[in-house]
Amino acid sequence: MTEVLELAKRLMAAESVTPATGSVFDRMEAMLAPLGFEVTRFTRGDGADGTPEAPVENLFAIRKGPEGSKHFAFAGHLDVVPPGGGWASDAFEPEVRGEFLYGRGAVDMKGSIACMVDAVAHVPADAGTISFIITGDEEGPALHGTRALIDFMREAGHQPDLCLVGEPTSVNRLGDMMKIGRRGSVNIWLEVEGTQGHVAYPHLADNPIPKLVAMLAELDALVLDEGNDWFQPSNLEITDLEVGNMAHNVIPEKAEARISIRFNDTHSGASLSEKVGAIAEKHGGVAKPIISGEPFLTPPGEFSDIIARAVKAETGIDPEPSTTGGTSDARFLRAVCPVIEFGLVNATMHKRDEAVAIEDLSTLSRIYARIAKDALT
Ligand SMILES: [Zn+2]
Repeated sequence: MTEVLELAKRLMAAESVTPATGSVFDRMEAMLAPLGFEVTRFTRGDGADGTPEAPVENLFAIRKGPEGSKHFAFAGHLDVVPPGGGWASDAFEPEVRGEFLYGRGAVDMKGSIACMVDAVAHVPADAGTISFIITGDEEGPALHGTRALIDFMREAGHQPDLCLVGEPTSVNRLGDMMKIGRRGSVNIWLEVEGTQGHVAYPHLADNPIPKLVAMLAELDALVLDEGNDWFQPSNLEITDLEVGNMAHNVIPEKAEARISIRFNDTHSGASLSEKVGAIAEKHGGVAKPIISGEPFLTPPGEFSDIIARAVKAETGIDPEPSTTGGTSDARFLRAVCPVIEFGLVNATMHKRDEAVAIEDLSTLSRIYARIAKDALT
């Protein structure tokens, strides 16, 4: 059994449905400390600020290189989504069957965190500074996770030069894709208020439904942009429509809808909120946006070249630089330094019987070691 497989199993055996604390972090700390890392752990979201939320644990670990050396950071999350039912083996009792290791977190992303740990064991301490930015709140609301870690790093004066997020970005085989950017995301709640009344006496009422329908038609017809070199066109989807009127003879007093926009770097969450707000107002309604992430882009260049070289050396393939998919914590880390995501094959993430090819763990560990060494020179 290889060392990296053992590390992955140890992390996966600690149940850590989001938000995660405790045992899985104990295990992570126990892996990093013997490698010369100074580990800091802290908990946020414990309700101390009056918000009744579950506590979230975060871990920052650093192994300092010689004075003036570069600083390379690995980032990721130890929380996982709930397993759901119907697994062939227990989701939190990692099991090897054939060529695969099964268990929740195999690819998203305890497997790749195990690869990071195994990789740094093969990078000499005098090569430069290496850090781990690890949260227990990525799959949840992400309010007290990576953002809190970034605050901590700022206060402590830790400034990485480059950061790799180990999300599962590969599609068909390990190495075929890296994410050099991600789209932003904003959800907007729309509401039109009218005046309730009898359908037979419409002059005494004010029906909000036609106004909301006209508003949604205008929003649905919007062409936000045509996309650009690195991003697909921004997209607006109507995700909910609700009146909740149980009576056939009543004009309702309120109609509500919700839209979700995934947008590229030609917009910001604020600019889109303003645009939608103006359209809502025109139709007599209001719009309440919640921005869940701004887009980010690390244009192809030095960092993507480092990753491409390492992938090519270990797998023989050229990773495609992509910006597709959902949001990740890279949306926060972009504020710290250039960030790119690269990790395992994502075919089984968030699914039942999540699994990683054992061979991929060894290969990814070697790729990560190459990336770290190259980034530090
Ligand atoms: Zn993930």
